[in-house]
Amino acid sequence: MTPTMRGMLVERLGAPDVMELRELPVPEPGQGHVRVKVEAVGINFADALAVAGEYLTRTRVPYTPGMEFAGTVDAVGEGVSGVQSGARVACLGGTGALAEYAVVPAAGIIPVPQSLSAAQAAAFPVSYFTAYHALRTLGQATDGQWVLVQAAAGALGTASIQLAKAMSLQVVAMASTEEKLDMARRLGADVTVLQDDPERVQKVKEATGGRGAALVLEVVGGARFQESLSMTATRGRVIVIGNASRETALLHPAELMKRNLTVTGLWLTSMMSDLEATREAAQELTQLIASGQVTPQVGPTYALADSARAFQDLLDRKTTGKVIIEPQR
Ligand code: NDP
Repeated sequence: MTPTMRGMLVERLGAPDVMELRELPVPEPGQGHVRVKVEAVGINFADALAVAGEYLTRTRVPYTPGMEFAGTVDAVGEGVSGVQSGARVACLGGTGALAEYAVVPAAGIIPVPQSLSAAQAAAFPVSYFTAYHALRTLGQATDGQWVLVQAAAGALGTASIQLAKAMSLQVVAMASTEEKLDMARRLGADVTVLQDDPERVQKVKEATGGRGAALVLEVVGGARFQESLSMTATRGRVIVIGNASRETALLHPAELMKRNLTVTGLWLTSMMSDLEATREAAQELTQLIASGQVTPQVGPTYALADSARAFQDLLDRKTTGKVIIEPQR
């Protein structure tokens, strides 16, 4: 008889409650793959967009969501070297993590210091690699420059603040509530501004000596995109990482020309195929975590059966840090 496990299944796209808890076959690791007993899954905004069918790539159903996770290697497929059963690992795969067991290509194993808990390890890959590439690889930030971090108490936001401070940048953090701004300050943000403060553009300008931020990490999109340009310094860069508003942004080319602005998109999935940049990021991030300068921020944690609620809380802006689901409970 085929062994089974508990896992979440999406058979039609929509709001988070389309996900159902099911008994599913335990997956077998094929050539070049490993099977991991999943202890913690990091939930990203992208996971909720994928379930809704609104992600950057088409979502094929039926499927089990969950792209980043941590746990213990439980079986190793043919052709895999350097990974043993029993090893504690963090992984970045495509889908399948919201289950008791998940299979991932060996190349999807991300080195993380063994000092991290499973939840911290699951909170690490997507947010920290994305923040790194935004600040360093594409942002080319240099010491002392100002960076504007939106959704600053979220998973990517908290990672971005910590990394920016570790890179000697100055941070203006924006978020929707005072509690979220408190969290941003605790992580080192130099200046905080409420996302709906009517004076927000002026406040960012004042904080940055009248110039605006050299680097803006843009995750909201829609009507706010134009504002992000207004808060960017002349010759500054806007790194477009997300579109949480799910609205189309309007961009007048003259705005870019007049102040020599650069707008660059960032998608971690395609950055990961740049092996040199990925190696550099992994090296620096692992050191920063090992030295304690950077600590993945674990947010609310949920049992597997409460996955839909976890996704909904993330969409409703109720969460801070990385939302975690623990499939073994
Ligand atoms: P977060 O933990 O940051 O949660 C999302 C946050 O977005 C909310 O808490 C909220 O913070 C903010 N937000 C702003 N406007 C809205 C809105 N209209 N509806 C809902 N939330 C809103 O999630 P992630 O860290 O997973 O992702 C943050 C952003 O970064 C997302 O846009 C995501 O798609 C993007 N991202 C992109 C990656 C890439 O490769 N391009 C990789 C990782 C993340 P507040 O209440 O403070 O406004």
